[in-house]
Amino acid sequence: MKSTMMAAPLSLNHLLERAGRLFAGNEIVSRLPDKSLRRHSYGEFYRRARALASALQKLGLKKGERVATLCWNHHAHLECYFGIPAAGGVMHTLNLRLAPDEIGWIAGNAQDRFLVVDDVLLPLYEQFAGLHRFEQVIVFPFSGKPVPEGFANYEALLDAADPDGFDYAPHEEDDPIAMCYTSGTTGRPKGVAYSHRSTILHTLVASLGDFWGLRGTDVVLPVTPMFHANSWGMPYGAVMMGVKLVFPGPHLHPEDLLDLMQLEPPTLSLGVPTIWLTLIQAFDAAQDPASPHHGRWKLPRGMRSLVGGAAVPEALIRAFDKHGIWIEQGWGMTETSPVCTISYPRAELRDASQDEKYRRAAMAGAPVPLVDLRVIGDEGEQPWDGKSVGEIQVRGPFITGSYHEVPVSPDKFTADGWLRTGDVASVDPLGFVRITDRTKDLIKSGGEWISSVDLENTLMAHPAVAEAAVIAIHDDKWGERPLACVVLKKGAEAQADALNAVLLQHGFARWQLPDRYEFIDAVPRTSTGKFWKLKLRERFAR
Ligand code: ADP
Repeated sequence: MKSTMMAAPLSLNHLLERAGRLFAGNEIVSRLPDKSLRRHSYGEFYRRARALASALQKLGLKKGERVATLCWNHHAHLECYFGIPAAGGVMHTLNLRLAPDEIGWIAGNAQDRFLVVDDVLLPLYEQFAGLHRFEQVIVFPFSGKPVPEGFANYEALLDAADPDGFDYAPHEEDDPIAMCYTSGTTGRPKGVAYSHRSTILHTLVASLGDFWGLRGTDVVLPVTPMFHANSWGMPYGAVMMGVKLVFPGPHLHPEDLLDLMQLEPPTLSLGVPTIWLTLIQAFDAAQDPASPHHGRWKLPRGMRSLVGGAAVPEALIRAFDKHGIWIEQGWGMTETSPVCTISYPRAELRDASQDEKYRRAAMAGAPVPLVDLRVIGDEGEQPWDGKSVGEIQVRGPFITGSYHEVPVSPDKFTADGWLRTGDVASVDPLGFVRITDRTKDLIKSGGEWISSVDLENTLMAHPAVAEAAVIAIHDDKWGERPLACVVLKKGAEAQADALNAVLLQHGFARWQLPDRYEFIDAVPRTSTGKFWKLKLRERFAR
């Protein structure tokens, strides 16, 4: 017997058409370089995305060709998310926080044909322009200034295009629509190409009630960059549900984000822990009547916040909860679209103590539907007992099965078809994943593993500590020992002994304590705002 269902391919174009019909009056707000707000309707978004598609087809874009973007989070970038695939192209987001040489190498590796770039990022473009020749560079006049000679003007291109006189490029559901490179913290960056199908399935899953819980009445502030891991897929989810979007543009400092939250209070926000950490510290500091910012900000009542991309310290969750904001944590990677697990309230834990709820919120959470997850240790697959650790491996319809033009290798994919994530974790009987490290960050001391993440999270709960990153340093006797790099809060003091005493109180064994502390001004950040331990290792692991 055959199913009687239509073989209708999953398509991103459906979301664009739907948004144009259903949500034409809903708003998209972008913060411009001069910090003013620009308002667009979904109706304008729909017409402009189609105009972009029409213009790209006129420029000769062929199916499957790459159009790169070098843009902040704003309405025109959203137009690229939909307009480029509508024309049959693949939107390739370039990560503007990478070194120019690396961006140039990535553009070359992806064979990008066109580039859409914010005018304010032209100085960055100039630094890698010699490494890859784009056939046409289309400048989005984000700042409102005239577009320099020699470049195409994004707005002029759209004005000249006819949003109605355009047909969607025919496609299969497995055709690519977007591309993103891993940050290359472990070797050369590698390209991941998402399809219509993977994107639609990821969008549906991530929007479910227990995950983003997207509703049409939401106001979403995506602080996670649209230039890396597709802002966790939120641009697609937002357009699917027609939610109001508030884009921060280039203004990601805590004061700027807090100001934006006053102007356009979000009901849901997304960001990495490091940004949320500085945001809550700025907010709490402003509660002091002597602060120049005293009384300037309120945190949006009832806002939900999804934080991930790196371990979320329990102290951060508690700090926000004090103001009535509950943080849910997600884990994933560029290769996984990216949402793979989310920590959400579970019925089984309804009567659990508040401490237990915090403890669980500080875990990476349970796998989302359609994702299979297993933990492989030295002795094979590990039981979900909350103790046994190993590497997380995942598979599913929105998880990459290879990298762009890289032969499939056993250090990235298993023979039975699972992605090796390089993250080390245990899973408990409720399916909650607890990430203890990335394989390369684990500390092996005298044959026993020490989790740098556990040490960091406990140190960051100390009132004097703003940030803590723990790395392994070579030790002749033990192999490796932990070294803690600590940033103290302004005016606060703490000695190594006192910090170790706190770790002991929290149940760490003596042999697990860092034997060296370095008090530093700031923890270096990767391109996506995560702690960059490689730099700390270069500096201290002598
Ligand atoms: P890269 O940093 O290599 O570019 P991604 O930006 O795709 O890769 O980040 C993926 C990695 O970020 C994961 O493999 C994991 O190490 C880390 N990560 C993401 N979310 C979490 C989380 N909630 N807890 C701990 N680590 C996380």
